[in-house]
Amino acid sequence: MKDVTKNACHLCAPLGASLVYKGIKNCVTILHGSQGCATYIRRYMIGHYREPVDIASSSFTEHTAVFGGQENLLKSIENVIQTYDPDIIGIATTCLSETIGDDISMIIKEYQKRNMERTRPVILYTSTPSYRGTHVTGFFKTIHDVVTQTSKQAVTNAGQINIFNGLFSPAEIRVIRTIVSDFSLFPVIFPDYSDTLDGGSWNQYHPVPPGGTSLKKLSSCGNSAASIDFSFCQKDELSAGMFLKEKFDIPCFKNAYPIGIELCDNFFKTLSTLSQKPVPEIYTQQRERLIDAYVDSHKYLYGQKAVVFGEENLVYSICTFLAETGINVVCAATGGPAGSISGLKLNDYFNQTSILEDCDYEDIEEWVIHNETDILIGSSRGNKIAKLSGKPLIRCGFPIHDRIGASRQEFLGYNGTHNLFDQITNTIIERMQNSMPANYATM
Ligand code: SF4
Repeated sequence: MKDVTKNACHLCAPLGASLVYKGIKNCVTILHGSQGCATYIRRYMIGHYREPVDIASSSFTEHTAVFGGQENLLKSIENVIQTYDPDIIGIATTCLSETIGDDISMIIKEYQKRNMERTRPVILYTSTPSYRGTHVTGFFKTIHDVVTQTSKQAVTNAGQINIFNGLFSPAEIRVIRTIVSDFSLFPVIFPDYSDTLDGGSWNQYHPVPPGGTSLKKLSSCGNSAASIDFSFCQKDELSAGMFLKEKFDIPCFKNAYPIGIELCDNFFKTLSTLSQKPVPEIYTQQRERLIDAYVDSHKYLYGQKAVVFGEENLVYSICTFLAETGINVVCAATGGPAGSISGLKLNDYFNQTSILEDCDYEDIEEWVIHNETDILIGSSRGNKIAKLSGKPLIRCGFPIHDRIGASRQEFLGYNGTHNLFDQITNTIIERMQNSMPANYATM
């Protein structure tokens, strides 16, 4: 057990909360804490999504840290209303405000008492101290807390399905929406930052970028016939779908990110069951093409050794997919908590795999330097490991700060898996070519 973390393989919890709030229509985030927290999170998100990201802060000082941040938070709510005129303000706490024990629900009540004539904005709140979680737990906890605070039940809408996303790219959210709609289901997709973090250029300035799940849609989650929740590696207490199951008896299907044949089949089977329709032909054809690609590439991939790292849900799904291709996952690593990917061990294939949980990039670097590896798959923060070891890095997940196009990365579904598969195969072929004489013709 190490005494320190060096280059953490996870990010801070309010970053996950800020990402979820970006997926709500006309919503502005306030971080209750110091300006540095908001700046750090903005820098991370802007570098990845290449879009403007406004995050307000209650701007703690030494005085606030000692005597409490109520007045700062009330003032920041007022400033945000004057500047952005939002429908929703999403408050997330930070390490400092949690450490001094500010009671946010009491401060929100105080705001409501002082502003009884106001009907908007609605103020939502989540508790996200980073010493109790990662950006991934912050992400799923905020989905859970928003649904807890907004969902109501009236009449069941038979065709409406809640889709509680994982940390998908904006392009992947669009793919999920298309797939679910192709089963003639009506998805309530949350969070939906497919436009707010991947919009077009504007002729006119918008204080809050257009797009996102509306409050009306969020309220209607309690009327849905079922939920599909992608918090597969998280405990049920962080699952919005499980909350709706307990409160309104709405069936919940916890699905892994659909990458690879097995996990895509599970997702499509769930949709088929819910819609009582067969899988549309367009997807059965995509599936066949993916299997064909597996066959075509097996001679290049069989026995190659991969190290996969990143957030636990993505690592779980990518490892499950690689097991189908002949690639040997020699190490699966995550900054997620102990137990978050050890479920992989339930599959015989992963008996020889080193599982690193709650690890940092230094642990992964150590592992790669002392063991045989052919390819690395993970975020751009693995770049240093790639440089030191001379192994190629396939960039996926969050963050990707040293390449363009992270918002358009699409690895979900049969076609998305095919994209990832081709990237991996071509990288391995290129590596083989680089070790050959210059006059090779075909591989
Ligand atoms: S102090 Fe806590 S909340 Fe703020 S940036 Fe650091 S880890 Fe995140």
